[in-house]
Amino acid sequence: MYYQRTLKNDIQCTGVGLHSGKAVLLRLLPAQPDSGIIFRRLDKDGGEIRACASEVGRVDFATTLGSGDLTVSTVEHLLAAFYCMGVDNAVIELDAPEVPIMDGSAASFVYMIREAGTVPQSRTRPYLRIVRPLQAGGGGRWIRLMPSQELRVTYTVDYDHPLIREQTVTIPITSATFEDQIAPARTFGFMRDIEMLRVKGLTLGGSKDNAIVLDENKVLNDHLRFANEFVRHKILDVLGDLSLCGFALKAHVIVHKGGHGLHTEMAKLIRSSLAYHPIESSEEAWVPPQGSFAQPLA
Ligand SMILES: [Zn+2]
Repeated sequence: MYYQRTLKNDIQCTGVGLHSGKAVLLRLLPAQPDSGIIFRRLDKDGGEIRACASEVGRVDFATTLGSGDLTVSTVEHLLAAFYCMGVDNAVIELDAPEVPIMDGSAASFVYMIREAGTVPQSRTRPYLRIVRPLQAGGGGRWIRLMPSQELRVTYTVDYDHPLIREQTVTIPITSATFEDQIAPARTFGFMRDIEMLRVKGLTLGGSKDNAIVLDENKVLNDHLRFANEFVRHKILDVLGDLSLCGFALKAHVIVHKGGHGLHTEMAKLIRSSLAYHPIESSEEAWVPPQGSFAQPLA
């Protein structure tokens, strides 16, 4: 049996909001079993927003949850850290409408979770085993979930840039592989897009301190953390976005040129297809079912 976990202690930090450029207080707190991840806006009378697929709002450049003036954006890196480090229940307090960008990766959030520690709770963790393929998107951009013994991600990016081009990585997701190989991968942006966003008053906090910045030919930062840091970061994004389905997943997640829109569409698709996929409370050995429904999609 795997029991749900929450944080052992409170922990807080201050970072910069990517879009506002202003300081943001971030505090992580323990929460009751079965409560999931809840954002609490201290600057909005403690208004709360649940981290779930039905709360997804804007998905351009980052994932935003909530509606009206009670929203929280850039949630995906912090959610990925909770999801992959095995924290099921927590309250995230913020005094601004966005999670601080930190260094553009999830490394700081993993560090905070490690510093706070985690404790098992009284309820078992529900695992959703994907037994029928699910797909969102089409043409050249899609996300697919296939049956698998464990959570595993294969991601392909293809950018028209000499330093990126096509990159594909497959990685089984455990807290160890996440911490070492995915969490440190930073977000990235192209100089031409950043200039356009700045005109609109966005990414005012963006800099080489919290993103890989590329011009037409090269990376403007000193170095990359991985030769294929770009595709690793997309894996970080998809894990945070898929966590909004509300279950630990046993599935092979395959993404071709995805983004927050497709990732969150899949989180919603998982919610709407729960009747087809068994919910388990342990990691028992599993024999793939016979028959056409477990076959890969054409
Ligand atoms: Zn990201």
